[in-house]
Amino acid sequence: MTSRRNFLQKLSASAMALPFLPGSVSLPDFENLAYQQGKVLRVAIMGLGSYGTRVADAMQACKRAKLVGAISGTPAKLKDWQSKYNIPAKNCYNYENFDQIKNNRDIDAVYVITPNALHRDQVIRVAKAGKHAICEKPMAINAKEGQEMVDACRQANVKLLVGYRLHFEPNTLEIIRMRKAGELGKVMFFQGLSGFKIGDPKQWRLNKELAGGGAMMDIGIYSINGARYMVGEEPVWVTAQETKTDPVKFKEGVDETIQFQLGFPGGAVASCLSTYTMNNLDRFFLNGEKGFAELFPATGYGPIKGRTHKGELTGPHTTHQTVQMDEMAAIIFDNKQPVVPVDGAEGLKDLKIIDAIFQAVKTGRKVELKG
Ligand code: NAD
Repeated sequence: MTSRRNFLQKLSASAMALPFLPGSVSLPDFENLAYQQGKVLRVAIMGLGSYGTRVADAMQACKRAKLVGAISGTPAKLKDWQSKYNIPAKNCYNYENFDQIKNNRDIDAVYVITPNALHRDQVIRVAKAGKHAICEKPMAINAKEGQEMVDACRQANVKLLVGYRLHFEPNTLEIIRMRKAGELGKVMFFQGLSGFKIGDPKQWRLNKELAGGGAMMDIGIYSINGARYMVGEEPVWVTAQETKTDPVKFKEGVDETIQFQLGFPGGAVASCLSTYTMNNLDRFFLNGEKGFAELFPATGYGPIKGRTHKGELTGPHTTHQTVQMDEMAAIIFDNKQPVVPVDGAEGLKDLKIIDAIFQAVKTGRKVELKG
């Protein structure tokens, strides 16, 4: 605080020293300059696909995070990123040699944005190289792998964060604030609808080896995660039912549609749908004894829209990935505690629920969840 005050004092003094030229001098943005004093998180992105590119673009507007490196198996993509994002060649690696990143003092963290089944090994290698790991959702393809990642990062004394961008989204946070303030009363019910109609049957998302499943890993996870942050509790049981209309496209182990229910200790229940065969499914609805909250769309890239029993939600539209990366810099360097966690333990909670959903589908039974 003292240093911030000193900084602001110095700045005001220099601002006052400027000649007053109406129309030609704009005063410094004190808040932004003070914010920039924090250490900048220097990030390398691994996996230069569609979401990796979205994150790279969004990071150009970050104040505390900077894209400085890239890891890819395709030399042409690395060349392209070097010129597009001004990345030095010395900060570029491939999947064979990226362990050498441990000798690169210009990179603090690696953001893993590859197919789901690769996350475990890649994050563990990042941790062993002594770099903080940011990993896309799902953090891994089951809880056992997720636990191994958490353990490896703990052992290496690096942070593990998961790309849960909605945890920083203004309208989502407003509903969480209202629920915590008791404005919805006792929460009784959550509905989560997550799905889209998937195209190309040859893509990795429909390959069990790379995806670890089907719609649940990719899109159903939003309803699982959303149920937890909207209700504000951890579920204690799961039931689930699967339907498959196209067993050629959705092979063994690749789920097409799963309906699942979660039971919470306070008595609330969640009823959710995860699917790869229907569009227009991106809606959260939370109901309490005193009011309700709805987000529709709830998890897309925005604007996230919604309303509560008090009226429309009017939070600003943000570029989720820009805010996420700035917030992650503060989490890593300043130990900032976000309203909803984005750490490895949080990613692991979703994986335990996914394991239980698959077990419930297989057995047709209610599966109890242990802490
Ligand atoms: P994508 O197919 O567009 O990109 C994947 C990248 O991984 C490609 O550049 C590909 O070359 C690379 N790759 C490395 N090894 C590979 C292999 N063995 N097989 C196939 N590709 C390989 O996929 P995407 O949409 O960018 O998804 C990547 C990850 O990001 C997934 O885990 C996904 O769930 C996650 N994702 C998150 C969000 C979000 O909003 N948080 C959105 C989209 C994707």
